[in-house]
Formats: sequence, structure tokens, C-alpha cells
Amino acid sequence: MSTVRTRFAPSPTGYMHIGGMRTALFNWLWARHNGGKFILRIDDTDRARNVEDALEPILEAFKWLGLDWDEGPEIGGDYGPYFQSERSDFYIEAVQKLLDAGLAYHDFDPPELVQQDREAAENEKRPFLNVRRSLELSDSEKKQYLEEGRPSVIRLLVDRSQKVSVDDHIRGHVEWDCGLIPDPVIMRGDQTPLYNFATVVDDAAMKITHVIRAEEHLTNTAVQVLIYQALGYDVPEFAHIPFVAAPGTKEKLSKRDKKIEKYKKNPQFKKLFDIADNVFPKLNLGSSVTLNPVMVAYYREAGFLPEAIINGLSRLGWSLDDKTENMSREFVIENFTLDRVVKASAGLDPDKLLSYQEHWMEQLSTDEKYDFCLPFLQRAGLVGEDFSAEQRDQIVRLIEASGDRLKLASDILAFDEFLVSDDSLTYDEKAFKKRLLKPERAVEILRDYRAVLADSNDFTAAALESEFKSWMEANNLGFGDIIHSLRVATTGKASGLGMFEALELLGRESSLARIDRAIEKAESEKSE
Ligand code: GLU
Repeated sequence: MSTVRTRFAPSPTGYMHIGGMRTALFNWLWARHNGGKFILRIDDTDRARNVEDALEPILEAFKWLGLDWDEGPEIGGDYGPYFQSERSDFYIEAVQKLLDAGLAYHDFDPPELVQQDREAAENEKRPFLNVRRSLELSDSEKKQYLEEGRPSVIRLLVDRSQKVSVDDHIRGHVEWDCGLIPDPVIMRGDQTPLYNFATVVDDAAMKITHVIRAEEHLTNTAVQVLIYQALGYDVPEFAHIPFVAAPGTKEKLSKRDKKIEKYKKNPQFKKLFDIADNVFPKLNLGSSVTLNPVMVAYYREAGFLPEAIINGLSRLGWSLDDKTENMSREFVIENFTLDRVVKASAGLDPDKLLSYQEHWMEQLSTDEKYDFCLPFLQRAGLVGEDFSAEQRDQIVRLIEASGDRLKLASDILAFDEFLVSDDSLTYDEKAFKKRLLKPERAVEILRDYRAVLADSNDFTAAALESEFKSWMEANNLGFGDIIHSLRVATTGKASGLGMFEALELLGRESSLARIDRAIEKAESEKSE
């Protein structure tokens, strides 16, 4: 059997859609499963855009997820160029071949006339078929029209008496009656190719064996197979995979602004938008694009692991069985087959994504978590580019203390109180009022406990806790009389790590300094 060669052919749109990434992943998995090649080809026939800028986020998404390509942008390959805008000669040559063989023709009908034909068909309730007036022209008329530069397009001449079919890996046997297919335009008057034509010419030239793509392209496949046949090329195998739906719906995930607004109210999807609202303002994103969970870049910036996203995307329409959820990339490569891809749309599932994330985060060592979290701390300005060994140790201790509360790398940002100086700690003013100003004895009790802390021999969480309990009992105090004010005083927040873990992490000096600062603040605010 020939080497399996798959491809993904994105248009440079300036962002990578998470659904498109799933299509790319399935191509990549199928190539890797078979020891084949995965090719990236850039569908940049729409030249209005600045291709380089618009492609960058797409390549970035592949790199982040570790989906390497064997041929394509940046690396080239034996079947290049890999940008359609640089492949005009191939298209012109292929069209000429069809014109010479009488399998394609110049159509001089102006668009308005074609539109009239279309309306007539509609009025008569019959399917539209183009009228083929240009086929009636004599050779000399045709020559004359071309010489005088009369506008025309080139159409494939469809044999209306036949049927065309594919045996799709996912959709099964699909058949079309060519008697219902208008002759498709394959090249415009300016010699630019149409998608269906360029795709076939390129897929054939690049020796693609399996075309795995979104199911919306199934209808294009009829015309594409006709083009393969007309050009005398081998037809590849096809697998049209189901679209990715918005969470809890059967509706294709869209990146339109209007839909995004709707998704924000979707109870499942909302979780991901909430992460963005919470995290992104803290990071220096340095981009004018507003990231949302329809884009791959959102997941990187929110602090997901590539492994979690690969795991999640693999499970969108593909499964190994009805129970295996957490899967490494190697495991999926080994087990990925097209016959286990389902027909039904697969809903993006934020809860599952978060659970994969939790699983893959658990697999990381403290050092790996450190490497993962550090850039987030730096971008949030909590750690500078250069930092001391003590700061490094403090981050490591924080990572250890936060344990499984650290699910996303960005979760570390919620523990900023352990990384800022005592003087720059900010207080949740509402909590401060409730815990330090309102209760009559709060300051007095805090001051008493400060004296205990100042004398503690052993500043570890366990020792501090048992000492705290004895002191509480001896003074006839309840837990609630002190724990909340102590927390707000030392961390500025109403909730967070276990209180004694927090004290250990801060160390004696900071704990005392923060209590002093809080007492001072409380006293001055009380006297106002
Ligand atoms: N550029 C096309 C798209 O993004 C490629 C379709 C195909 O895979 O044939 O939809």
C-alpha cells in the first residue's frame, strides 16, 4: 500500500477555529497512525488578505499543540509550493488539458443571463442546469470572442447521463445524479481557479491518499470526483467528519460575534468565558484580537495544557470505547481509526475539557508546573524577567501548597497574595469591613494572636494549627472569632489556601508585618 498522505488546507483567516483544529488533528492522527505524512497547504486564493499575518496564528496553534507537519509552510517539501497563490501554473496547465480534451469549455454567457436561467428554473420548479449556449458556438466564433477579450469563465463539461459516487469512510456510499449537476465553473476569467478545482489539482499533485475534512464539503465531493476523473487522476479516499457543535446543542460552533454573545449565556459554555473574563485582563495579551473559546489561542492563554486539548479534540466525534476518557497523544495515535468516527455532530464539552485538563495537570511534576506557570506570572507582572532564588523557591512552595487547586496554569494568578510584597498587598475592602471593622473585638483578638505567632517555635502549618487550637481554647474563643480576620489581614482575601498553609508560606516576618498593617488600617478607619 502506498504511504498514507493527509492534508489540512486552511485559509489564512487570522485565527485558528477549534473545530478546524479538530479536523486538522484527525488528519494528523491518521497520518501518524499509519506512519504516513501530514501536509499543510495554505488555501490563500483570496488575495485580499495579508497572508503572512493571517497565517501566523494558525501555525502558532499547530506548534503549541505539537502537531508537526511534514511538508508545508516554513519547511517546504517535494510537492511544493504549499501556498495555492503560488500554484497558478498548475491550475492553468490542468485547465488547458481539459479544454484540449473537450472536457471543459469557455462559457461566454454573461452572469445576468445565467441568473435569468436560474430564475426561470426556479419559476418552473425544476432544478437549475446551465444552458450551455457557448457549446453551440463555432470554432471561429469562439476564437474571435477570445481574441476580442470577451469575458468568460471555464466550466467543466459534466456528462449528464452518468452518476458519480464515493464510499466515504464515515458517510458510507453516497451517490449523485449528474443530470442534476450544473457544469461547475473551474476557472474565472482572470485565470484564478475555483476551490473545487484547485483542491483537486493540488490533492492529486501532492499525492494525497485520504481527504479528511468537514462534512459540509461532502456536497463538493461530487464535483471534485468528476474533476479527478476528467483529469485522469486516481480518486483519493474520503472521510467527511461531523462538525463540532456549540456545547449542549446540535448547532455548528461559529465564531460570529452574534453567536459569541449567545454562547456567553449558554450555561455550559459560560464557564470558559468566565475564565477569560477573570484571567485575560491580568495578562498582557499584546493583541487586538479578543480571544474566545472558539479560537485555539484562547486555550493557550487561559492556561490549558496542549495534552488536555489534544485529548478533548480527539474525543470530539471519535472514541475508543464507551469508557476511556483520558488519553495521551501516543495512545490516541496508536488507536485512532476512521471507522470509529461517528456521523453525529459532536458538542464541545467544557466540563470534559476541564476534567482532561485536571487529569493532565496532575501528571506534571512540581518543576513542570513551575515551567508552565512562570510565563503567566511574568506576564501578569507578579514576577519580573529576572528574579531571585528566593522568589523562585516561593513560587515552588506556592505551587506545592496550592495542590489540586491549580488546574489551569493561570489559576496561579489567583494566589498573587503570596508573591507581592507586604506593603503592596491589596485588601478586599468588603471583606475587610466585615471581618476587621464590624466585629467589636476583631482587632484586639488579632493582636493577641499576633503575640502567639511572634513566639511560635515552629512555623509550619501543622505546628501552627495545633498551637492555634490550644490558644483558642485557653482564651475561650471560637474558630470564627479569629480565622476570618486573620485571613483577611494576612492575604487580603476572604478565601484561599488553608489558613495555616498560608501562614507557613508567608513565613513569620510577612505574617506579622501584614497583621500589623491590617491592625493599623483598621484602627485608622475605625477612628474616622
Ligand atoms: N480551505 C478549505 C476549507 O477551509 C479546505 C477544504 C478541504 O479540505 O478541501 O474549508
